[in-house]
Amino acid sequence: MSTDCIFCKIVAGQIPSTKVYEDDEFYAFKDIHPAAPIHILLIPKVHIATLVDCTTEAHQAMLGRMMTLAPKIAADNGAPALPEGGHRVVMNVGPAGGQEVYHVHLHILAGARPWRGFAAGE
Ligand code: AMP
Ligand code: ZN
Repeated sequence: MSTDCIFCKIVAGQIPSTKVYEDDEFYAFKDIHPAAPIHILLIPKVHIATLVDCTTEAHQAMLGRMMTLAPKIAADNGAPALPEGGHRVVMNVGPAGGQEVYHVHLHILAGARPWRGFAAGE
């Protein structure tokens, strides 16, 4: 845990969040400023600042589990199913990538458009 990280504080229950999923390794909650009708943040419970800091085989495995968990969380929270439906997963990396919170997180976005900000991605 990083004591000055808001997402570590959310995992620790020190800052409130609307939890949508939790297991031993991951925590997912609703984004406080949703950029789409469904906007969830999926984070590892361990503090890792950015994707660039994911350098080990353990990080590689964690990222794989995170990616394959995302569609399940999307579906459980109302994202329309394929073939017509779907969702977007986005990870912002560093200042030029639009990252504001330096604890690795995957944005899971879905629902009727228009979306706003980085989520629009058009
Ligand atoms: P990023 O710009 O990729 O670092 O995304 C950070 C995201 O965290 C933004 O979409 C914020 O709206 C969201 N966010 C910041 N603080 C909170 C919070 N306390 N609870 C939920 N979401 C938050
Ligand atoms: Zn953290």
